[in-house]
Amino acid sequence: MPTFRRFTGGRLVVASHNPGKAREIDDLLRPFGVDAVSAAALGLPEPEETGTTFQANAELKALAAAKAANLPALADDSGLAVAALGGEPGIYSARWAGPERDFDLAMRKVWLALEAKNAVDYRAEFISVLSLAWPDGQRHSFEGIVPGSLVWPPSGVKGFGYDPMFIPAGYDVTFGEMEPAMKHGISHRAVAFRKLIDACFAVPPAAS
Ligand code: IMP
Repeated sequence: MPTFRRFTGGRLVVASHNPGKAREIDDLLRPFGVDAVSAAALGLPEPEETGTTFQANAELKALAAAKAANLPALADDSGLAVAALGGEPGIYSARWAGPERDFDLAMRKVWLALEAKNAVDYRAEFISVLSLAWPDGQRHSFEGIVPGSLVWPPSGVKGFGYDPMFIPAGYDVTFGEMEPAMKHGISHRAVAFRKLIDACFAVPPAAS
């Protein structure tokens, strides 16, 4: 059983420049009384994602923010892995949306790629790796996966990214149609987050 360094309170940088992800991470952190501050609010630069895995990119983002802010930092690297596309877009999920971050375009590209293969297998999963890093370079990473399937046309405006084309297994609505509180309870980030909390956070005070 590995030993994990614990976050003992104070400020924590949320190293995401993606407002949808930052909102979801803030929601997840709230019950733990963490003084969260975003990398964007601190004016930290966004490092280039040069890793070839979700974990490498999450660690690179968390470490860059921790060192720049001299505070512990939490970063997520995540994406959509489509079975019939050999796991694509995967770590390139943001890049499929182009420089304009156009996710209508990205979703269409995914669907066209499936049609080009005459695919009948619509299984996909959202994957998130959360990394907590300290300014001295120590870090711990945790993975969360939500299996599901893709639908066309996209539906719902409540989420972000690929949410409107993804139905999580066991549900009959897309992440885009789901209330944020519901999605934030079952998402890939929530799954990774629960592992992070168990390993690195003190038990929250019991609700009075
Ligand atoms: P990155 O982790 O910043 O490289 O970006 C990952 C990309 O994956 C995001 O820009 C989204 O397009 C997509 N993604 C990650 N998590 C979610 C999610 O919960 N819903 C929808 N799309 C997501």
